[in-house]
Amino acid sequence: MSKRDFYEILGVSKTCTEVEMKSAFRKAAMDCHPDRNPGDSEAEHRFKELNEAYQTLSDAQKRAAYDRYGHAAFEQGGFGGGEGFAASMADIFDDLFGDVMGGRRGGRNGAGRGSDLRYNMEITLEEAFSGKTASLTLPTSVACEACSGSGAKPGAKPRTCHTCAGHGRVRAQQGFFAIERACPACHGRGEIIDDPCAPCGGSGRVTRDRSLSVNIPPGVEDGTRIRLSGEGEAGTRGGPAGDLYIFVSAKPHPYFQRDGADLFCRVPISMVQAALGGEVEVHTIDGGMATVKIPEGTQSGKQFKLKYKGMPVLRSRDIGDLYIQVTVETPQNLTKKQRELLAEFDSLSSHKTHPESAGFFTKMKDFFENLSSQ
Ligand SMILES: [Zn+2]
Ligand SMILES: [Zn+2]
Repeated sequence: MSKRDFYEILGVSKTCTEVEMKSAFRKAAMDCHPDRNPGDSEAEHRFKELNEAYQTLSDAQKRAAYDRYGHAAFEQGGFGGGEGFAASMADIFDDLFGDVMGGRRGGRNGAGRGSDLRYNMEITLEEAFSGKTASLTLPTSVACEACSGSGAKPGAKPRTCHTCAGHGRVRAQQGFFAIERACPACHGRGEIIDDPCAPCGGSGRVTRDRSLSVNIPPGVEDGTRIRLSGEGEAGTRGGPAGDLYIFVSAKPHPYFQRDGADLFCRVPISMVQAALGGEVEVHTIDGGMATVKIPEGTQSGKQFKLKYKGMPVLRSRDIGDLYIQVTVETPQNLTKKQRELLAEFDSLSSHKTHPESAGFFTKMKDFFENLSSQ
């Protein structure tokens, strides 16, 4: 199925600034928001499309990838993913509709979901192969133990806010619209704390270093996101905690290049090895060794496949292959003796030893002469 161009969806030019894009997105999203178009599946589709386009282009890295490769940049694993999408949608909603819709996330008592946290983790190819258990230390705000997150001094009770009668929101008329906004007296909490808890200053949260052990499964790739539900920041006033997202990035390996589950390795061999044949021993990602048979007369660029010597596939039993590509090294810095031997070797060369190069220039010349005489 062909996908529409993200810039076209947002109605902006390829050179637009982030600010222009954001404003175009807000306008369009307001228009086709499902809450304003109940039961309209076309609007719903357009809204989804908009979100996808905005989520991609508002991220500088993804935008660069999209500019270079188009939709293909996100087709293989990598980004996408449901949860992250939902999280960023929520952020957009807050931003867009926080004032108008009111209480979407907060509601009474100002209980709010904690923020999601992002942790960037760089791993080696070896670690991606075998998986690992990583210990993280995260500075994160957690529910205050002294007040169990209520923000009130132990024993003291928060009282209901008179300004908003505990709703946390007040209404104001503005033009045609009745607009609800957070109550200025209680900042949307619906209650007033006269006697705030000392350790947290009434916020209900304190910052702590938290250590966490995370299981990185074998087969993770550059760009894999791991979501740990409820391991983000604590919510306010008893609200649920956010999630922790681990963004995995892969360190480049000096010998192996990875493409999905397959690995590639370039191995230089000598001209003589290539001509006479032989064996080379290569290291494999599992820590072992493998022997590659080089047949007589091997040409530069030839690939040999070592089955199941690649990477494991995430959450599967499949294993990729290792491709060994040989490049034939032309000898350099020859001694006099070596030159003489090679010259002698050359004098014995023929069509049989060099079927490609022997006579190549004659054949090429004939071809172009025939072309011009036609
Ligand atoms: Zn407290
Ligand atoms: Zn209030």
